Amino acid sequence: MVDQKKCIGCGACASICPVGAIKLIDGKAKIDTKKCIRCGSCQSFCPVEAIDLSKAVDNDDAQKPAEKDKK
Ligand code: SF4
Ligand code: SF4
Repeated sequence: MVDQKKCIGCGACASICPVGAIKLIDGKAKIDTKKCIRCGSCQSFCPVEAIDLSKAVDNDDAQKPAEKDKK
């Protein structure tokens, strides 16, 4: 996820993301984990190392285990 305290809202991650998964909200980057393909580009482009994809993966998968099966 994006560390909201570190993020300076530069927009580099949003412009590099190949699937448009990042939006700036209130000057901070937010990743849409449903769109994110975990390519790692945003993480390497962030100038302040505010993005930690390993956390994003763990948290989101842990929180929504059953949603795929419901329809
Ligand atoms: S890791 Fe996800 S959010 Fe980051 S640039 Fe790639 S697709 Fe976009
Ligand atoms: S690249 Fe880093 S500092 Fe810039 S908006 Fe994205 S998360 Fe924030």
